[in-house]
Amino acid sequence: MFRFGLFRSKPCSRCGLEVNYLEPECPHCKGLSDLQVVFLKKSHRDDLRNKNSDLIAVFWKLTLVAFFITLLLFIF
Ligand SMILES: [Zn+2]
Repeated sequence: MFRFGLFRSKPCSRCGLEVNYLEPECPHCKGLSDLQVVFLKKSHRDDLRNKNSDLIAVFWKLTLVAFFITLLLFIF
């Protein structure tokens, strides 16, 4: 990750999000109730999952395009 060396961070023990070492408190879950932290964690997880599935979709499209180009090159 490009952030290494620039900002040292560690995962928050409460919400699991990355927190800068310089922060005295987690800025993500500071002042939130336990229930709100649960929702924060869940939405963060869903967000990561959506990003991953988008990446996988892009990867498959690229693979398909590469496959067809290779096929065309072999045919002609
Ligand atoms: Zn936190």
